[in-house]
Amino acid sequence: MRVSIDVGKCTGYANCVVAAPEVLDVDEVTGKAFVVLENPGPEYESAVEEAARSCPVEAVIVDGAGADGLVQRDG
Ligand code: SF4
Repeated sequence: MRVSIDVGKCTGYANCVVAAPEVLDVDEVTGKAFVVLENPGPEYESAVEEAARSCPVEAVIVDGAGADGLVQRDG
């Protein structure tokens, strides 16, 4: 699983950080989210999916997530 942030979309709501604090954080200077763990293991899958769902502007991009189709994929 690979996680990235579309910083052009991100508006710093930090919902994603609440959902997946081990994987994502918000830069206090830029006000944008950034990835702490770029390739999180399967133990973070549900947290990352929740982060992607909770982002109001769909700026959390997840590649190679589970087969449940809940996570939007890059491209
Ligand atoms: S929830 Fe979305 S808009 Fe908010 S900080 Fe995370 S990526 Fe950015």
